[in-house]
This record gives sequence, structure tokens and C-alpha cells, in this order.
Amino acid sequence: MGELIEHLREGLPAEAILTDPDVTRSYANDMASFCTAGAPAVVTLPRTVEQVQHVMRTATALRVPVVPQGARTGLSGAANAADGCIVLSLVKMDRILEIDPVDRVAVVEPGVVNAVLSRAVAEQGLYYPPDPSSWEQCTIGGNIGTASGGLCCVKYGVTAEYVLGLDVVLADGRLLKTGRRTAKGVAGYDLTRLFTGSEGSLGIVVRAVLALRPAPPQQLALAAEFPSVAAAGEAVRQIMARGHAPSLLELMDRTTVRAVNAMARMGLPESTEALLLAAFDTPDPAADLAAVAELCTAAGADQVVPAEDAAESDLLLQARRLSLTALEALRPATMIDDVCVPRSRLADMLEGTAEIARKYGLTIGVCAHAGDGNTHPVVCFDPADADEARRARESFDAIMALGLELGGTITGEHGVGVLKKEWLARELGPVGLEIQRGIKRAFDPLNILNPGKVLDA
Ligand SMILES: Cc1cc2nc3c(=O)[nH]c(=O)nc-3n(C[C@H](O)[C@H](O)[C@H](O)COP(=O)(O)OP(=O)(O)OC[C@H]3O[C@@H](n4cnc5c(N)ncnc54)[C@H](O)[C@@H]3O)c2cc1C
Repeated sequence: MGELIEHLREGLPAEAILTDPDVTRSYANDMASFCTAGAPAVVTLPRTVEQVQHVMRTATALRVPVVPQGARTGLSGAANAADGCIVLSLVKMDRILEIDPVDRVAVVEPGVVNAVLSRAVAEQGLYYPPDPSSWEQCTIGGNIGTASGGLCCVKYGVTAEYVLGLDVVLADGRLLKTGRRTAKGVAGYDLTRLFTGSEGSLGIVVRAVLALRPAPPQQLALAAEFPSVAAAGEAVRQIMARGHAPSLLELMDRTTVRAVNAMARMGLPESTEALLLAAFDTPDPAADLAAVAELCTAAGADQVVPAEDAAESDLLLQARRLSLTALEALRPATMIDDVCVPRSRLADMLEGTAEIARKYGLTIGVCAHAGDGNTHPVVCFDPADADEARRARESFDAIMALGLELGGTITGEHGVGVLKKEWLARELGPVGLEIQRGIKRAFDPLNILNPGKVLDA
């Protein structure tokens, strides 16, 4: 321990090295429940690329594991500390280095908060679409680490589609530059895409070139109330089958609606089984909404309520963004699933999840990026009740099994972390797993980068 701190001090200022156990302990976890976390030996808060390189050279020399962290809003334990590790928090590297309206790129450090970047580019008439509900806290480095999605992905795609190039500090401290800032480019293997979603297990992102779009018109939304989740799923199917391009298509089930009302008095309709939110940022959003309202009614909606104006539309979005936090408040503990199915199977996924809740006798609230087929069933339970905790874990697994059975994936956007490691093997199969282990070894032969996450080396 003494030797480690001595080494770190050679390349980092005193204020960038935290060793007080009360402080370092507070960096042990991200926001996932029931994921193992160790006690860090030290927390480092570098401000420069050179300082990050120094941390990695030290870690390699002394064979110490390194856990990269952004804002620790992750939901899979991917940023959880390992015993005796160096926590490498990137939050102090938070500068927007450049916003270029001609090349339509932003160049940023990893600790920039998503919403800060979004507002900065909006001031120049530009748009950075990926918008996780945690956007006021989460960082671009964490978004790249998890390839995160968000509310507007149904139209604009996820983080991976906006990462053009990266500067990455490798396990041994070398600096690798991947990708480009040009509109096109196919030189060599696509390492940018490989790092995006690698959950800090292949290298440390210290700079990113992100694609921007022209700002779209202000979106307008509607809320449709359905008597069943299956009917809402059918409406999603019809909306997409008819070629509509909503900028948002989100779902909250009855449990979620009630939880959000309880937390924020939003006045959402509590008698509905499923509330579908749709929005358009097209030149004539009212006309698009009218067409979607008709499809919702045909699919069985009891009521369709268009927002009066942009402010009311924003309120609906806010309600949706609150969903996970509100569901977390229902019981002492929650496990948040993240199963994504082909959107044609969304109704089956929603019905199957309701069936699982009944079978295990648990409250499972569902909010979903419905247009992506990405559901977040939140299993609510009391860990002090051993039987309930067992049922919670079993239902959580049953939801992933259902997702795979429907042709989906165990994680649409939250990542594997420690939470879903066992399930990754099932999804990848033996050949996929072997190839992925080979990639990990190529980048991190000593297995010091976020060990024990994603897959075992
Ligand atoms: C209320 C709430 C709502 C959420 N909504 C969404 C949502 O809509 N969509 C969604 O996708 N997610 C959502 N999330 C999950 C989470 O916010 C995202 O996964 C987010 O991208 C994590 O960012 P972070 O800065 O907190 O990263 P962290 O949690 O700190 O880290 C995430 C991963 O990235 C790695 N990492 C962090 N920085 C770097 C770096 N510079 N280099 C290499 N690796 C790095 C970490 O090691 C870890 O593996 C939500 C979470 C909460 C609590």
C-alpha cells in the first residue's frame, strides 16, 4: 500500500490522491443493488491525460487492479471497486474542448456530464441525441463505457452511433488513438466501436470525438392510456409498422405511473394499465401525433391526450425520466432489469413479465423505451425477508430467460457489469465467449483493467 501511494505521488498532485478509508469507501459502488464491491486502496482523480497514463503505468508495474469510474450512476455494478484496487475517477477531466458546427463534432474529456454537453451544443443550434434518464449526473465517459441509450434513441440511436473517435490510455499506459473526426472513414478495424460498451475493461477513455446533429424542431407529445400492457405493445407495433418516426416512444405501466405520482405529484392517470408516451419533432408534429392517436385508439386505448404545448410535453418526459427513481422508492430494495427484445415481440415481453410478477408474488413495475423494445422491469422487494429476496432473484433471472427466448438480449443499455456476467455466457455461446476473452487478453494481458466485470478473463 505504501509503495503504491509513493508511486502514485510521483505523477499526481496530493489533492488527486485520496486514501482516507471513509472517503475511499464512498467510491465503492455504482447504483446497482446486490453486486459485490470491494474496498479500494486509493481513489485517484487525475486532471490530465499524462496523469491517467501515470496511474496505469503504476498499476502495471505493481500489478494493481484499476476500476475506472464516471458518475457511478451505472446499474450493473460495472463501476464497483475491487478489493485493494485503484479507483480511477475521471470526473475532474470535465472540459468541453471544442464544438465545431462545420465538422459537426464535439471534442470532450470523459468527465463532462451528458446534460452539460447537450446544453452547450444546443446554444450553437446543434444536438447531441443520446440522453439517458440520468443525464443530469452521468458522464460521457460512463456513457461510452456502457454504450448507453435514452429516451430519444428510437429515432436517433444510442451512444455508439455518435462516438467517432477516442483517445484511450491502455493498461500499460500507452496512448491509443482510434477512429476519426471526418464524416466517413473505414481505415482498419473499428476499435472505437469495440471500446464503446467495453465497461472500462479494455482501456481508459480520456478524450472523445462525438458526432452532432442540427437541432431538431421542438417536439410535441401525447399520452395514450391502455387497458393492458399487451394493447400498448400492439400500438407500438402498429406505429412502427406504419413507418412513423417518433422522437420518443416510451411506456410506463400502472405500478410505475403510481410510483411517479407518489414521488412527484405529476397527476398521471392512475386507472390505466399502461401509459404510452409518443412524441414527434417533425415539421408538423400535430399531424403525426393525430395519426398515432388513431393507431392507439385502434389498438384499444381508452383515452389519448395530446400535450397542449412544448412545456406540457416536457412534463411528460420528466415523468418518464423519474420512473426508475420512483420505482426504487416503493420497497427497501430493487433489482432493475434491462432486457431488449425485437420490438415486434414487445407485447409478449410485457405480458410475460406481468405473468412472472404474478407467479413469484412480487411487485414488478415496468418502464420501457418501448420503441426500442427495451424494457426495464424493476423487481421491488425487502432483502430482510429471505424468501422474498430469493423470489426477487429468481424472477429477475426469469425475465432475462424470457428475453432470450423472445430473441432479445439480456442488456439493451445498462451493460453486464457483475450483475449479468453469468447470463452473458448464455447469450454469447462458447465460441463468442472464447473470442471475447481473447480480445480482453490482447488489451489487458495482466487482467488489471476492471477485473471481474463483463467476463472472467
Ligand atoms: C435514475 C437512473 C436512470 C438511468 N437511465 C438510463 C437510461 O435511460 N439509459 C441508459 O443507458 N442508462 C441509464 N442509467 C444507467 C447509467 O446512468 C448509465 O449507464 C450511464 O451511462 C453511466 O454513466 P456514469 O458516468 O455514471 O458511469 P459509471 O457508472 O461511473 O461507469 C459506467 C461504466 O463505464 C466505465 N467508465 C466510466 N468512465 C470511463 C472512462 N473514462 N473510460 C473507460 N471506462 C469508463 C466504468 O468502469 C463502468 O464500467 C440510469 C441510471 C439511473 C440511476
